[in-house]
Amino acid sequence: MDSNTPPLPAEQARRIISELVRPLEGTEHVPLKEALLRVLAEDVAAPIDVPSRDNAAMDGYAFSAAALKPDMTHTLKVAGAVLAGHPFEGAVSPGECVRIMTGAPVPAGCDTVIPQENVTAKDGVIMMEASAFSPGDNVRLRGEDLKEGQICLRGGTLLKPAHIGLLASLGMAQALVKRRPKVAIFSTGDELYPVGSPLPEGGIYDSNRYSLYGMVKRLGCDVLDMGVIRDEPALIRAAFLEAARQADAVITTGGVSVGTADYTGQILSEIADMAFWRINMRPGQPTAFGRIHAGGKETIVFGLPGNPVAVMAAFYFFARDALYYLMGTRPAPLPRIAATSLSPLTKRLGRTEFQRGILAQNERGNWTVRTTGPQGSGILSSMAQANGMIVLPPECEAVPPGETVEVIPFEGLV
Ligand code: AMP
Ligand code: MG
Repeated sequence: MDSNTPPLPAEQARRIISELVRPLEGTEHVPLKEALLRVLAEDVAAPIDVPSRDNAAMDGYAFSAAALKPDMTHTLKVAGAVLAGHPFEGAVSPGECVRIMTGAPVPAGCDTVIPQENVTAKDGVIMMEASAFSPGDNVRLRGEDLKEGQICLRGGTLLKPAHIGLLASLGMAQALVKRRPKVAIFSTGDELYPVGSPLPEGGIYDSNRYSLYGMVKRLGCDVLDMGVIRDEPALIRAAFLEAARQADAVITTGGVSVGTADYTGQILSEIADMAFWRINMRPGQPTAFGRIHAGGKETIVFGLPGNPVAVMAAFYFFARDALYYLMGTRPAPLPRIAATSLSPLTKRLGRTEFQRGILAQNERGNWTVRTTGPQGSGILSSMAQANGMIVLPPECEAVPPGETVEVIPFEGLV
């Protein structure tokens, strides 16, 4: 396959990535807090029942509904109090109740908790209407959240705050997680200058390495920043080989189109098994993907376009998937919001277009989206202004205002 093959449909490119990228080997135990955004390496079975005892879901009074005789009004003697963390010593007899606080263990002999606002309490007794409760009310049963031995998290789960909390509820101080991928990044281009230096005539600052750094880092990968590589074939080749030696993935920007100084494509065709060179999308068409096999290991490689918006679109919709597969998890499908376009949108028939949009809710609570304006793939300010990508499929041509379009919100992309 060479770089003259026609661009692949976007869905096909995503499928190829899912088929070719294998999860990394290697796991490590980490303290629970450090497991956040890591991928769980094993199924986790609950070592205990959660909750470990029947306990009160409300502040009130615990008693045995089963022991009550049928009546309109019940009067019970308050035999004591039980607080969270302090089990009740002794037994509660029929005709008695105990004052109980949320989370406190329900004493032996009780099956129901009535909220304190539903009783009249006076002189050590409570009165309550039979209609004010049903047996079993406000008792959280032992094991109702998780039963001992039950698988509660599967290996391959990307650990988010709820998962960390769940593991903590089981008393686990550590988690076995998969190794974090190391991702090498570099920019190519003789016109690129590092931030913090004066900009010569005709130069531009290397912004791609910064957006790329942010996107890779937020996914939870380690970044190996190799800087800017000049447009010289020998240097680019050496950089790729060094990246392949040190990292699990290499993502570069620039030099994959067909200009005279575009050497990235040429080098990749020599040293990598390339799966595709171009995707039928805008921005981001010259997005190349393959694998470098060297030194007995495989390194996945993305040659992303040079244009800053194209870099971000190609990363979010393609490279991100690949990094998740490397991490040993499956990327969750990106949610799409159906929104009424407030702007006329133009596009070319026959390719997927990702246009930058600003999602908002109107006064009736319905989603609307408007364009950020000019959609040139070099206009990085449009990415910073937008809060979502309007996805226009190949069969769509122009969109008049008032029509419904699908938008992928940026929130949740990482
Ligand atoms: P190329 O694909 O190398 O021809 O680059 C396409 C466009 O993206 C050119 O206008 C480049 O100047 C620009 N570009 C390439 N690399 C970067 C970068 N690292 N940061 C900002 N712009 C870049
Ligand atoms: Mg270039």
